[in-house]
Amino acid sequence: MMHFPLTTSSILEYVEAEYGTRELISYCDKDFVFRCNYQEFALRVKQLANSLIAKGIKPGDRVATLAWNTHRHMELYYAISGIGAICHTINPRYSMPQIEYIIKHANDKALYFDNDFLTIAKSLSELSLGIETFVCLGINSSEDNSFFTSYENELAVQPTTFSWPVLDENIGAALCYTSGTTGNPKGVLYTHRSICLHSIISSHRENLDVISQDVVCPIVPMFHVNAWGLPYTVPMFGASMVFAGSNMQAEALFNILDKEKVTYIAGVPTILSALLNYMDQHSSKPQVLRKLLVGGAAPNTSLIEKFEQDYDVNVLHGWGMTETSPVATLCTPKPHIRENLNFAEQLALKSKQGRRPYGVELKLINTSGEIVPHDGKTFGDLLVRGAWVSERYFGCETSSSTPDGWFETGDIATIDQDGYMQIVDRSKDVIKSGGEWISSVELENIASTMQGIAQAAVIGVAHPKWTERPIMILVKSANSNVNTDDIKAFLAERVPSWWMPDSFIFTDALPIGATGKVQKKDLREKYKDVVLS
Ligand code: AMP
Repeated sequence: MMHFPLTTSSILEYVEAEYGTRELISYCDKDFVFRCNYQEFALRVKQLANSLIAKGIKPGDRVATLAWNTHRHMELYYAISGIGAICHTINPRYSMPQIEYIIKHANDKALYFDNDFLTIAKSLSELSLGIETFVCLGINSSEDNSFFTSYENELAVQPTTFSWPVLDENIGAALCYTSGTTGNPKGVLYTHRSICLHSIISSHRENLDVISQDVVCPIVPMFHVNAWGLPYTVPMFGASMVFAGSNMQAEALFNILDKEKVTYIAGVPTILSALLNYMDQHSSKPQVLRKLLVGGAAPNTSLIEKFEQDYDVNVLHGWGMTETSPVATLCTPKPHIRENLNFAEQLALKSKQGRRPYGVELKLINTSGEIVPHDGKTFGDLLVRGAWVSERYFGCETSSSTPDGWFETGDIATIDQDGYMQIVDRSKDVIKSGGEWISSVELENIASTMQGIAQAAVIGVAHPKWTERPIMILVKSANSNVNTDDIKAFLAERVPSWWMPDSFIFTDALPIGATGKVQKKDLREKYKDVVLS
């Protein structure tokens, strides 16, 4: 057989030739909607490739982005990887010290940022992080523009012709850091091959079911696991794309989905439930919405039920991680399940995280490393391996897999006899707030550096809007008169605002287990009735 490298530029060349008239619609700048088709998009990507080369970006270099979901961000995805460099998407919700760490670790050569992130970019430009060039993606009216150039101006002077180099499919194309619960964030480097295989398999009818008639809006951000790979998957199958930019509020989102005749959306439960509430209040749905993909955190059954029953939107539930590109399981019914289960039973099944597609393997082990039965009841540590699962973290000499080649997910799960996996818990105690992670350990560490605080523990408590929010339980040092306002002020200077615990509880002592560790299980039980509004 011929060797045909699976590269991101091959996706671009394919969609340009075969689905060139399908559309890209982007709510990018304030009050401005950009519209083009894939042929025009490909020309802009070529201009960007020329511009990157003119800047001295070389194969293997990391080029960072701090950007919303827009056509420009997608142009960066393709142009950077197309010339053999690596597109490093930075999550702007990280704290400044985390962003600085990530940029230094990745050794980014350039930073492309949206207007909204001008302040972050400015601060970064004042540090010696090795970034040689800053480019603003939006139409910028700021007077403080001495440190950056304009994306659109740079593109305008470049030719629309470019020959994509033939690349080794095993080189890196995209880099994304995980929001680790302990220690520093870790980078996951996706290769051209892993991206292409992930797209081919995940989009299949039996899996995500993306077809050329679709108009797909990835609500999930492009700065987190490549928006679940959709910027590659969707063009590969000729569907149109809609980018909502920074419009994450339910009403704005609803209007975009409705106006642009979006058929397919993908997002985390928090955003989808806000959208659902809006739909309920207005007794209306985005006119042609037919399908949604939910993941990143467990959706509640009523979200699935309401979308399916009240609005005739087919809900697909999936599970994955930054380390798994991310799609690793999807909850689609096997034929005998489709035939034999009634609607209520099928809904119940959809609450499970789903079954593996071809290219991914799962196993459950107990604390002794023995495989536990797939009976849908027995819990085990979930291990995964496959063609788009990370083997080691970026910049690490050593493998992060087990000696027999599995990745330990840190999730506790069951798998039933039909292969459907269900997440039971996170073995670490990370707090999932609105689809993003809050490290309980980091919050505890910071709080306990405050004078007057002897001990701190953070646990997640159910929240009607954000799924979960942190609460902090504190033990004061002797003679301390620290109060809630003091600790809030202390944390406000040190953590992102959305990490701020919703409640602070002072107690005399924390429950300590046999190995000297705080027993979070006991705390969860004790504070399970805390109600957050
Ligand atoms: P991240 O690497 O930030 O995308 O987070 C991955 C983690 O999110 C997984 O290990 C799970 O703990 C959690 N997660 C992802 N999808 C789901 C889901 N559908 N249900 C429950 N937890 C999920």
